[in-house]
Amino acid sequence: MSGIIPSPEDILNARSAQPSDMRSQNLATILRVVRTHGPLARVGIVRRTGISSGTVTKLTAQLVEAGALAESSVATGGRRLAATSPAPSTRRAGRPQAPLDLDMYARAVLTAHIGLTRSTAGLVDMRGNVICEVAVTHTDTDPDQVLGTAVATMRELRESGGRTVVGAGVSTSGTIDHRNGTLIDHPVLQWRSVAVRDYVARRLDLPVEFDDIVRGVALAHLTYRPGEDIQHVLNLFVGNVVGSALAVRQELHRGEAGRAGQITHLPLHGVAGPLCECGRANCFQAVASNVGLLAIGQVEGVVSHGETFDQLLDRSDEPAVRRLLDRRAEWVGQAIAMLSDLLDPSAVVLSGNATHAPGYLDVVRATTTRLALGGSDAAQRVSLFPFPKDLLSASTAALLLDRYFRNPVAYEPRLAGVDRGVQP
Ligand SMILES: [Zn+2]
Repeated sequence: MSGIIPSPEDILNARSAQPSDMRSQNLATILRVVRTHGPLARVGIVRRTGISSGTVTKLTAQLVEAGALAESSVATGGRRLAATSPAPSTRRAGRPQAPLDLDMYARAVLTAHIGLTRSTAGLVDMRGNVICEVAVTHTDTDPDQVLGTAVATMRELRESGGRTVVGAGVSTSGTIDHRNGTLIDHPVLQWRSVAVRDYVARRLDLPVEFDDIVRGVALAHLTYRPGEDIQHVLNLFVGNVVGSALAVRQELHRGEAGRAGQITHLPLHGVAGPLCECGRANCFQAVASNVGLLAIGQVEGVVSHGETFDQLLDRSDEPAVRRLLDRRAEWVGQAIAMLSDLLDPSAVVLSGNATHAPGYLDVVRATTTRLALGGSDAAQRVSLFPFPKDLLSASTAALLLDRYFRNPVAYEPRLAGVDRGVQP
């Protein structure tokens, strides 16, 4: 029998569903407008969406009833109604309606980032705020061990969080087949063909999105930024590894084989660093990653043997160390200049712990101004990821939330339930 509770197969399929009917599309449009511009009065939703007033009244009532939206009380200084407050299902004549906002107290997304030495599980609200986070160090890199522990931690977060969880995001690095939810190859963890998405989805009974964390960062920039609709976002991640992700018209560009965004062998000018596996000495990953930077510093006598990047950062007031860090920022600026000329993104987000170096953004922007055809205009679009402390969990949640806001009916059983027998 088919009920409101979706079957595991429905859950696995929901993630790929795009809204095909007008009601689902309108629900998604309303939620996205409130996410970006909320709290919003119904009249504001009508103005920003172009959806008729009658339809907005009907659909916002359904969204409130389902728990996706809540009334935001002007009288209490914008404080939203508690999740336990009864949803107003009927409109009382003459009573002014409070603006609507996402229900920030009732909904959440579970997350797991699978790192090289540890997994980070989190519970994240609908605007990317991390509610709680638990890091677990791997005792074994066997996929079943690592994923089993991550799932157990996510379960604990779900049980203690007291919220309705709409789905889960899972991220790592390496080569990922997003369509099948499979990690094809993770060279450091040495995982091959691991069906990560279905493993987590079946055990948590939730829709799951699994992708590269770098893509999550790009989506986070689109999903959480208030008051602005950005179209094309480029994320450049520089840390122990390097990577990039591009969203075009707010949609991730993954490429034909899912490999889009790899900048491992992007050539840099004016540097001869450690030899890359490809045989060249100026590849972006071999030179500009933390590993590359530390190796170059050792050869030049600036970095001592065994010194870590965090230890180097602690010495950044020493002129020689600062010059080394500034050179890396210039290499990143070279990459940004090339990619900006090629892609003309609306925004470039810098992430990874390279960004912790003092003056990093200034040097990247100065180099971009000097080298990009777009000059200072291109440089001004470059910014740091706004919440670095929460990068892993917030960006992993964005993988799921991006899908949620495109088709909320697939993630909100009560919206799907309302659909039956109700005219769109
Ligand atoms: Zn190379």
